[in-house]
Amino acid sequence: MKIIFEKSNGIDGINLTDEKIDINFIPQSFLREEKIGLPQLSELEVMRHYKELSDQNFCIEEGFYPLGSCTMKYNPKVNELLASLDDFNIHPLSEEDLAQGALKLMYNLQNALLEVTGMDAITLQPSAGAHGEMTGMMIIKKYFDTLGENRKKVIIPDSAHGTNPASAKMCGFDIVEIKSNEKGQVDIEALKAVLDNDVAAIMMTNPNTLGIFEEQVEEISKIMHDNGSLLYYDGANFNAIMGYTNPKLMGFDVVHLNLHKTFATPHGGGGPGAGPVGVVEKLKDYLPTPTIEYDKQTDTYYRNYNIKHSIGSVKDFYGNFSVLVKAYAYILMMGKNLKHASENAVLNANYLKEKLKGHYDLPYDEPCMHEFVLSGEKQKHESGVSTLNIAKALMDGNTHPPTVYFPLIVHEAIMIEPTESEQKERMDEFVDTMIQIAKDAKENPEKVLNAPHTTPVKKIDEVTAARHPDLKYTN
Ligand SMILES: *Cc1c(COP(=O)(O)O)cnc(C)c1O
Repeated sequence: MKIIFEKSNGIDGINLTDEKIDINFIPQSFLREEKIGLPQLSELEVMRHYKELSDQNFCIEEGFYPLGSCTMKYNPKVNELLASLDDFNIHPLSEEDLAQGALKLMYNLQNALLEVTGMDAITLQPSAGAHGEMTGMMIIKKYFDTLGENRKKVIIPDSAHGTNPASAKMCGFDIVEIKSNEKGQVDIEALKAVLDNDVAAIMMTNPNTLGIFEEQVEEISKIMHDNGSLLYYDGANFNAIMGYTNPKLMGFDVVHLNLHKTFATPHGGGGPGAGPVGVVEKLKDYLPTPTIEYDKQTDTYYRNYNIKHSIGSVKDFYGNFSVLVKAYAYILMMGKNLKHASENAVLNANYLKEKLKGHYDLPYDEPCMHEFVLSGEKQKHESGVSTLNIAKALMDGNTHPPTVYFPLIVHEAIMIEPTESEQKERMDEFVDTMIQIAKDAKENPEKVLNAPHTTPVKKIDEVTAARHPDLKYTN
């Protein structure tokens, strides 16, 4: 396909020349001498160009999108509409009395998120999951600094998302990795073996990135607290547990959520996102400023900058407000049905797991939560078809590939998260495609090795693309 400069045919879509703008105040030496060289096309041709571009892309509105760990659920369009209302388009420095509606929305959202997490206080400021992790780890660091305890280590299971060790490291902690047991869960003995007075915290994901619920989480919480350490909950996988349990009940002290996964903003679109961080009572005085609060006497909402040990601001103003509006609208719309979203997400994942486990390796054959992890090892061994080839072949089946090669502890990992949005018919189509690919891998491996065959861009040379990226347009 051509880029818009190549399509330019000299027809003015819009005429700017009627507006006579006085440019005399600009010194002559700064004025352009040649024409600016923008593409010229009619409005209709511009529309066609962008439609053609968007058709090159794959989206949930087009087909199944089981991108594990990313929770690519369907996000109702009404939330986008609400977030774009003019009334929410206010300046972040507006006087409080002119911004009561926006402040109230954030206050109510804080309360709703406190309800689902069980936590005691929360900040909406961080703008992504990883940013929430960093905020949480800064809080933990400052907490121990204030106590005068110099705890340098953070324990992280080997199944964790890569952002966990990165966030802890950025806050100055040393990372201690512990192995998972044969059930894909934290190995308590391995945990005890590395525990000492230098340990500030453990960062856990529950359900973990294998989609498995950590059954011993309460015991882990007791062990950590007895050691004077804290527990951090990576809540990016919150879609699995809403309304059934919460990190507070499991014994965690700090939690981040990904609003751009669980709460109505798509993940992976390049942002904006939101990663609110909730904490237990004793960490409340460390939250970033401002938090949004309510004064009952005057019935007004206000920004509180007066937080005793605050780590400071982690982002300008209040975070990504439009994402907060979407999350609030989604929560109001769902009400108690949030619970059913989790219920169906878990049911769908277990359905797919049972249907597929006869055709692909399933390294951890446990009941799963919202996602599960297959392995393409059998195919790789038998016919040289790798997980990457399987992922590409799925694109021919009108499916976005699942997350692959993560978590790192599973070889040739294929991580599938159907979400609650999908109906049985769609999942059955996906199962048929996966089974067909397993069959092709055996009988006609060339077909899978050369996939995809039907996409706008066919099989690409990923090594060259990564090593020698050609990012400059040359005519
Ligand atoms: C997505 C995810 C993150 C990071 O979230 P971002 O918003 O992409 O920074 C962290 N942990 C887990 C388990 C995740 O799935």
